[in-house]
Formats: sequence, C-alpha cells, structure tokens
Amino acid sequence: MNDIRLAVMMMLVVPGTLAAQSSVVTIRAGRLLDGQGIATQNATVVVERGAITRVDRGAKKGAVTYDLGRYTVLPGLIDGHAHPSWYFNRSGRYHTPSDGDTPVQSMLAMAGNAFATLASGVTTVQSPGSPEDKDLRDFIASGSIPGPRILTSLQPISSPRLTPDTLRAIVRQRKAEGADFIKIFASQSIRDGGTQTLTQEQLDAICGEAKAQGLRTLVHAHSAESMKAATLAGCTQIEHGVFATDEVLRLMAERGTYFDPQCGLVFRNYLENRAKYEGIGNYNEAGFAAMEKAIPLAVAAFKRARATPGLKIVWGTDAVAGAHGRNVEDLICRVQDGGQTPMEAIVSATSRGAQALGMANLIGSIAPGLQADLIAVDGDPSTDITALRRVVFVMKGGRVYRWDGERP
Ligand SMILES: [Zn+2]
Repeated sequence: MNDIRLAVMMMLVVPGTLAAQSSVVTIRAGRLLDGQGIATQNATVVVERGAITRVDRGAKKGAVTYDLGRYTVLPGLIDGHAHPSWYFNRSGRYHTPSDGDTPVQSMLAMAGNAFATLASGVTTVQSPGSPEDKDLRDFIASGSIPGPRILTSLQPISSPRLTPDTLRAIVRQRKAEGADFIKIFASQSIRDGGTQTLTQEQLDAICGEAKAQGLRTLVHAHSAESMKAATLAGCTQIEHGVFATDEVLRLMAERGTYFDPQCGLVFRNYLENRAKYEGIGNYNEAGFAAMEKAIPLAVAAFKRARATPGLKIVWGTDAVAGAHGRNVEDLICRVQDGGQTPMEAIVSATSRGAQALGMANLIGSIAPGLQADLIAVDGDPSTDITALRRVVFVMKGGRVYRWDGERP
C-alpha cells in the first residue's frame, strides 16, 4: 500500500491521529489517576514529541488541545498476557494452521485484534507467544498500523523431552530471533489437568540461561508443584496458577516472583464461544468441563494471592479469540469477584505491570519523562471499576488513536 492511501485509511480509522502530531499537546483532565495510586482532581498534562513533559495539578483556564475535563485520565493499561494471533476464521471457527486461511488473512486478523485491543484502552501487551508476533510488533512500533506496544516471546518452550543443553541453546536462539522474553510451559493446560511437565533441572536450565542473556521468563504453571519449581529456578513471572497453595505463594513473595493469575474472562470467553472452539485439540467435553470448574478456583486463587503479604500481582488476561478488546473485563472481575479495591486493580494494570516488564521508566505512570500513553474514561474507575468499559480517548506515544469527543 502506498503512503497516501495508508494516510487516508488512518484518517478514516483513527480520527485525530494527524492533528495530534503538532509539537506541543495539552490535555485537560477532570480527574487524573497517576498509575501509582494517587488521584487528583483537575490537572493538565503536557506532551511533547511523544513524551510527558509536565503535569500541572489544579484547575486551569485557557485553551487546551484536548479538553477531557469531563473524564478521568489514567495511564494506558498494560496487559501482561494476551494472544493477538488467536482469532476466529471466516467460517466462525478458532483459527488453526490447517484451516485454509492464508498468511495474509491471518495477519490481517491479528492487526484487527491489535486495533481492538488498543481502542479498548490497552496500550501495551505482552504476548506469550507466537512467531507471527514479530512482524505485528515491528509494524506497530514503526507507526505503520495502529495497535498496542507488543512484547513477544515468539515460539514458547514446552517440550519435556529436551536436555538442559538443548534448552539453553533454544533460549539463545530466541534471543537471536528477537524475542523480548522467554515463555515456558511448565505444566499441562488446565484442560488436561495442569500437572507439572518440565523438571526442576529443565527449568533451572531455561530460566538460568535466560537470566544470563538478560531476558525475563514467563512460566505457564497451574499445579503448586510446577509453580514451586519455577520459583526455585529463579524464573521471573508465573502465569495462571489455578491450583496455587498458600505455601507456594509465600515462596513466590519471598523470592520476588511476579504472579499473573486470571480472574475469569479467559474461561468465560471459551464457554461463551464454545461452538467456535469445540472439537479442536483439547477443546472437548472434558476440556470445557475443566474450564467450567476452574472459574471458582481461579477466583479463590486470586483471593489467596491477594492475602499473601508482599506478593507482586500483575494483570494479564490471557485474551484469546473472542476476548480481544474486552480485556478490562478481567480487571472488573478482580474487583467484583476477587475483592480487590479498584485503585489496587488499576495500579496492577499500570505501574506494577510496567515494573514487571522492566519498563517502569517508560510506561505505566503519568509523570514527566515517561511516554505519553494516556487513556480517558467516562466516570471514575478508582471508585467504579466498570468505568473502564467506557473509554473515550486513547493516546500512545503521544499519538491519538481514539477520541470520541470534539476534534481539536
Ligand atoms: Zn496464554
């Protein structure tokens, strides 16, 4: 596509994109949540060349580029676990490599997922992971197509048959291929029982080598045994943990291991879209029964995690086909079913999410020097978390991708 056609398309899809590129952009916020737990009534955020240069607290008169005085402004959300490559194909079924879709069709579907995610207020996602993520990540990063910042593991590591030496070589290979982190499956899927699949020795090899290479490690682990092994191996973050025990959560808190439990969106989404998944792989009768049973277990595991002193809980939805753009439902679940305060939920999805990515100096808070990843919602999500469903404004890196109000 030539540049002019792309520019025209971007104007149609994302009004305001071009207008927002003038050198100084000012944003009036009726209420500002800084991502670190502080709320301020009335503030003005100044953005230059994609970064926040000033935050003025208090009411101010005068012209601004974007008057969001009726709304709450907060940092763009960070989803620590989403799968932009998962989509429903043109027959309305979960896409698999053998369904006849061309690579171009798959990539367009992924671009659609990325746009839906960004428009819903999620400005960064971590994808654990798929080889196709690399082009999506790079095209979004270059500003060619709209989407959240993407960090990807590329192909995950899962085979229990590999030797420690081979596993270490794969870690180095992923780094050479451009992976941002390493994704590991240390337990079965919840649909297959969730028991441990990799040994302590194998996990030691992967997480040890990744650390030596300067890469973080995300470990899929459901059983307490697999979570314990990943923690002892020094892995960075544990995903899911439906069968977490108090003992293993305490160990994680002691070792500083991040925990990314899901509250329910992922399971509910599978059940709501059952006909689109049923009959593919482990999406069978037993698999769906296991996911139905997992809903209360996941909420219980989340509550147990919250009750563990010092445990660093981050937000990751495990968004798959059907859930892209509905990511905030899992944050709403954490408050409504998991008993978290709305402000804690927001902090976990902003500054703590950035910390877990090693990007706290770039994103996740509203402060001078950070990238201008800002969203606005109708209502106050620090008292009513469902306000996150009403996104009216999305800015990423100083560029406006959504503004439902008046053009500047
Ligand atoms: Zn996942």
